[in-house]
Amino acid sequence: MVADGATILHADLDAFYASVEQLLDPSLRGQAIAVGGGVVLAASYEAKRYGVRGGMAGRRARELCPHLRFVGGHFAEYQRLGDQVIDIMRDFTPLVERISIDEAFLDVAGSIHLFGSPRTMAIEIRRRTRLEAGLPVSVGIARTKHLAKIASQVAKPDGLIVVEPDHELDFLHPLPVELMWGVGPVTQARLAEQGITTIGELAAIPGRSLEHLLGRGVGTKLGSLAWNQDPRAIETTHRAGSVGAQSALGRKEISTELIRMTLRHLADRVATRLRAKERAGKTVTVRVRFAEMQSVTRSITLPAAISATPILAEVGYSLVTTALRDHPQERVITLLAISVSHLVFEAALQLELPIDIGEEKQRPGTTAGAARWALDRSVDGVRERFGRKSVGYASVALSETGAVPDEFRELAEKDG
Ligand SMILES: [Mg+2]
Repeated sequence: MVADGATILHADLDAFYASVEQLLDPSLRGQAIAVGGGVVLAASYEAKRYGVRGGMAGRRARELCPHLRFVGGHFAEYQRLGDQVIDIMRDFTPLVERISIDEAFLDVAGSIHLFGSPRTMAIEIRRRTRLEAGLPVSVGIARTKHLAKIASQVAKPDGLIVVEPDHELDFLHPLPVELMWGVGPVTQARLAEQGITTIGELAAIPGRSLEHLLGRGVGTKLGSLAWNQDPRAIETTHRAGSVGAQSALGRKEISTELIRMTLRHLADRVATRLRAKERAGKTVTVRVRFAEMQSVTRSITLPAAISATPILAEVGYSLVTTALRDHPQERVITLLAISVSHLVFEAALQLELPIDIGEEKQRPGTTAGAARWALDRSVDGVRERFGRKSVGYASVALSETGAVPDEFRELAEKDG
């Protein structure tokens, strides 16, 4: 059911991980910071101004912004604050569809008689999020999910945009095509080759030509979205499913090298299976078993679905590091496992998305993320022909930037 009025809200916390780090450590406020190390997981607005983006290699980010500060991720705090903001939204409607740790759709049609107009509710959600969680959130309001999401991206940072039903196409068509859901660097570049840079230009292409250009599924979908045809309703239940791999290690002394190597291998197995199923996932979980059979798990839900080996390995490494930090007395591990859940099916679209897509307005036609994606794909192709052992990721060194976030450094010191 598509709403008659503009009653779908898309609320998206601004530069979420980086905003939390700046909230926790006031000395980081106003600074160009990146969460991550080998791969940038999130960047503050101050860093984005230099072109630093989520999903980018840490080395590249340093080139763009030499004074960039890398900070370790406080994953438990992200989860806690993300949950707190979702709870604020649930005060307004039970129809909340959380699509990542920092982002949700709300259907407020049934709440207007209780709280006032959707705009009034959005103002109150933004006020309470700032007051109670200390974080900026942008909100877009429209008749469809796709348009609400675009409106929130246009509203960033720290803004609110309402698209009334009689202004939908006036609002939508002048916007750059990369704001559309599912248009990543690869699709954007393919469209640009045809001279298509705005959503209006895309809307003007006959459906047949679009399918020819982008493939049937993607072409049809984008053609509809360009005319704001998006029948998707708010979904409050998630699809099940996960892909995982584990490695029994015997009894091994904990070391950075052991954990990096093992995770890279496991991430590669999981990512290859995800891509073979044309899926990507948002939630990454690791399990670490120590010598005395004690197991601990750590989990994070990311802003966008991922299926790239190096990003999965990097996220896994951050999670394992937090588990080790919480168990400083342990010296030996016997098992490492990693899994990806909250799988999405539009993998052909999702795979292109850099991690931090939520905050991005402009992306160059080729990025490290797109190159990485293409590389992963070609590696899969070679494996299909020659068997999976033929190609490895020996040359992908995630820590080669020289930027060691504090929590990683702790582990390195423990080794030393
Ligand atoms: Mg966000």
